[in-house]
Amino acid sequence: MADEQARSDNPELDSEKTRASLDRLYDIYRDIATTADKVMQTRCPYKDAESRCTAKFGCQNQFFTSDPTSLPACAGSDQIDYRDAWDT
Ligand code: SF4
Repeated sequence: MADEQARSDNPELDSEKTRASLDRLYDIYRDIATTADKVMQTRCPYKDAESRCTAKFGCQNQFFTSDPTSLPACAGSDQIDYRDAWDT
C-alpha cells in the first residue's frame, strides 16, 4: 500500500507508458508461448539446438557415439510424433 502510494506520487513514473510497456512485453511472451506450443507438437522438447538428446530416459531415437561423455544424437524425425519412441 505504501509502495503503491509512493509510486503514484513519483513524478518520473508515467503510468500510461508503463502500461504500454507491460502490454508489449505481454504480447512478446504470448507470441513466444504460442510458437513454442506449436513447435513442441512435432519437435521433441528434449532435443537441443544441435539435435542432441537431453532426455534422462531411454528413447529409440537416441544414437550413441563412441564418446561416452557426449550426449546421444537424436535420430528422430521432426515430421512424426516422437512420443511413441520413448521408453516410459
Ligand atoms: S532421442 Fe527421443 S527423447 Fe531424445 S530428443 Fe530425440 S525424440 Fe526426444
